[in-house]
Amino acid sequence: MPSSRVTREALYRRQRGICALCGRHLFGISGTHIDHWVPVAKGGQHTDENLRLTHARCNLAAGVKLKGNVQ
Ligand SMILES: [Zn+2]
Repeated sequence: MPSSRVTREALYRRQRGICALCGRHLFGISGTHIDHWVPVAKGGQHTDENLRLTHARCNLAAGVKLKGNVQ
């Protein structure tokens, strides 16, 4: 099992405080969501490469859009 725990702070620094979905500033890590590039349901892992930090509402909006595109 991978032992590296990814933190919001680390993701925030890597993305330079930019939301991975809308490209705008996150303005701090409070209220952000950690999103998976590859969903856990599809085999995605909690690894650094598979995680990205987004605004809460961006993540929720993306989820809704994704569901809308299915089928
Ligand atoms: Zn955003």
